[in-house]
Amino acid sequence: MLYLFSHLKELRKKIEGRYLFLFLDFDGTLAPIVKIPDKAIISREARNLLGLLAQKNNCKIAIISGRALPDIKKRLGLRNIIYSGNHGFQIEGPRIKYKLPVSLVYRKTLQQIKGQLERELYGVEGVSVEDKKFSLALHYRLAKKKCLKLIQAVFHEAVSMSLIKNKIRIRKGKKVLEVNPPANWDKGKAVLWLLASQQFALKREAVLPVYIGDDVTDEDAFRVLKRRGLTVFVGSPGNSAANYYLKNPKEVIKFLRLISNLKNGRS
Ligand SMILES: [Mg+2]
Repeated sequence: MLYLFSHLKELRKKIEGRYLFLFLDFDGTLAPIVKIPDKAIISREARNLLGLLAQKNNCKIAIISGRALPDIKKRLGLRNIIYSGNHGFQIEGPRIKYKLPVSLVYRKTLQQIKGQLERELYGVEGVSVEDKKFSLALHYRLAKKKCLKLIQAVFHEAVSMSLIKNKIRIRKGKKVLEVNPPANWDKGKAVLWLLASQQFALKREAVLPVYIGDDVTDEDAFRVLKRRGLTVFVGSPGNSAANYYLKNPKEVIKFLRLISNLKNGRS
């Protein structure tokens, strides 16, 4: 993996004159990770930058988050951009709407698991169960270390039967365990779907997809774009499938500013 700012010259060449389709994760990418997920906010500068970029006729922006769709929309509050919630299960934007169909059985299973988690983890400090409608998230960033084993055991017990019966899928994120629909769908598939569905609107211009993300769930997107796009991992370089890395959300904003300047003909 290459440090993005050490390869600016070649990147400039790649970006200049191309139509950019910018895919951005939210937590840990645009907004710093915080102890209480509900407190995560994007800086005013970053928000303004995204707003500016979205207005340009050679740039499109999609936020691809694990958060519920209304949550992520509220956090950005920008029109003219595409929002995808629940790791790509829901997509909404100007003239776009997609919702992965889920069965009643799945919804019931989710409620059952939610009930079990809440009962069994009652009184355990620092854990919370978030109902994202399409999925469930068990957050444990604030939990004491000595409780982690218990939390994981309770989670696995609650999901094991449904998992065996293929009623759900589970996913691990940063200090979060998630229950998702049993579909073969992820952030990577959502990105490919968006690229395909926007092809006509993009008038077959040479589109350069750029994906920036920090979590395990972003890896699916890095993999599908590995050859055709620019992929950027946020964090200390490790086993990511991305081509480049940036150290933190601050550097992501710096990179967005650079793109914005390039699009204005300044560099
Ligand atoms: Mg993230």
